[in-house]
Amino acid sequence: ANSGGEYDVVVVGGGPGGYVAAIKSAQLGLRTACVEKRGALGGTCLNVGCIPSKALLHSSYLYEEAQHVLPAHGVKIDGVVRVDLAGMMKQKEQSVAMLTKGVESLFKKNKVDYVRGCGTLTGKNSVQVTDGSTMQLSAKHIILATGSAPTEMPTLPFDEQRVVSSTGALALASVPPTMAVVGGGYIGLEMGSVWRRLGSDVTVVEFADRIVPAMDHELGDRLLRILKKQKMKFMLGTKVTGAQIPPRGAKGKVRLEVEPAGGAGGKKDTIEADVVLVATGRRPYTDHLGLEAVGVQTDARGFITINERLQTSVPNIYAIGDVVRGAMLAHKASDEGSLCAERIAGHEGHLNYDCIPGVVYTHPEVATVGKTEEQLKEAGVAYNKGVFPFLANSRARTNDAGGDYTEGFVKLLADKHTDRLLGMHVIGPNAGEMIAEGVLAMEYGASSEDIARTTHAHPTLSEALREAALATFDKPIHI
Ligand code: FAD
Repeated sequence: ANSGGEYDVVVVGGGPGGYVAAIKSAQLGLRTACVEKRGALGGTCLNVGCIPSKALLHSSYLYEEAQHVLPAHGVKIDGVVRVDLAGMMKQKEQSVAMLTKGVESLFKKNKVDYVRGCGTLTGKNSVQVTDGSTMQLSAKHIILATGSAPTEMPTLPFDEQRVVSSTGALALASVPPTMAVVGGGYIGLEMGSVWRRLGSDVTVVEFADRIVPAMDHELGDRLLRILKKQKMKFMLGTKVTGAQIPPRGAKGKVRLEVEPAGGAGGKKDTIEADVVLVATGRRPYTDHLGLEAVGVQTDARGFITINERLQTSVPNIYAIGDVVRGAMLAHKASDEGSLCAERIAGHEGHLNYDCIPGVVYTHPEVATVGKTEEQLKEAGVAYNKGVFPFLANSRARTNDAGGDYTEGFVKLLADKHTDRLLGMHVIGPNAGEMIAEGVLAMEYGASSEDIARTTHAHPTLSEALREAALATFDKPIHI
């Protein structure tokens, strides 16, 4: 194999974990290369995850808005509002292309070498890159950032046409009349929302008795109610036990056999759907990485094992992002990337795993940070709770038409003795932007009184946060 150069840091994987680790390493003066095999930078997030899903969520919401919301605001559209799916997909592809190219220019600007091909560990200081030919890179430090892949169900293998993963669901050629979504997590609900808005009759089948089970229950219950009102259907506490898939090219629907999740003996049922999206989870992706050859250990579920300094069982090899424990989120991967680079460069760095926000980009959005009420109860922590509904927020009332601006609420949880903020949970318009204030407050160890005594611009949605803070230890003004 050719020698491809000597580096301080070689990053394997160019997703939000890997590309941020590479840029930060270079900024800190380390000679850096990033190996990526998909032919574009940005990983799952930019190519088949966060970005294309948000493009379709935004475009499909505009369609819904044009049909149902604009007329109520005195904006009349003469003629028919219809979907040009090819146009919508083109807009999605353009935003993806622009952003992935953007990462490439950031590499150039920061002098990161972008090495195209599949990276395999061949020693504790060497990575072999295969892309037609092979090449060896030598590295003082290696960062593994190979991400994750959708999990397949044995009864429902992906053909990406009728049985699709999230990747297929981002690129359907036509709007399926009916769609079944297996898995009521955020990916299933976001993609289900897209196709429901574009005209599909969507049924979500979820094993647990609630959607997004880890979410604060009060929020999960409200989200379920709102999505049902939007005509999404749900079969909760239900498992898929079998499937009949017509042969490729043949007409006909996929038949799913379902039964109650709670053990044998329940009533069996079948559902038929033109397209089935399987969104039951993602697995760490370490194929072709050669972990065994160098002795990098993984846990029982296949995640690369790391210590609190992000080091694997081989100390100069680090791992970050979806391929290690913790939330499978782009910003968690990126922050681990920065932290890892800083530590390699001899700095301390900082990442507070208790303050990683999570957002579900349905309409309205759901955003959370910190502990849920259920977690506090379970841990026996005494807390005060403040809730404020958007129904009593002037900006939400002004923007609203049809309800989904005002159906949500802000919920704050604070320590009963110290008033320190322990959790913020929002279901409502722009919740994903609003959560940043709670994340910052928690990072700085703020109390709910600190938030309540901070001036918030009027009229804004963020006033609902301040009122929820007031409600935590005192009385809100507007309700
Ligand atoms: P990845 O982004 O998976 O990147 C890993 C990269 O490594 C890939 O490009 C892969 O090709 C490459 N690679 C793997 N093995 C090798 C090898 N041996 N050699 C060379 N290259 C290799 N997260 C959010 O925070 N917000 C969202 O809104 C959001 N929406 C999502 C929507 C969908 C539909 C999906 C599927 C995911 C979404 N996520 C979202 C999750 C987010 O995409 C991931 O958490 C994030 O991409 C993880 O980053 P990563 O760098 O660890 O891995």
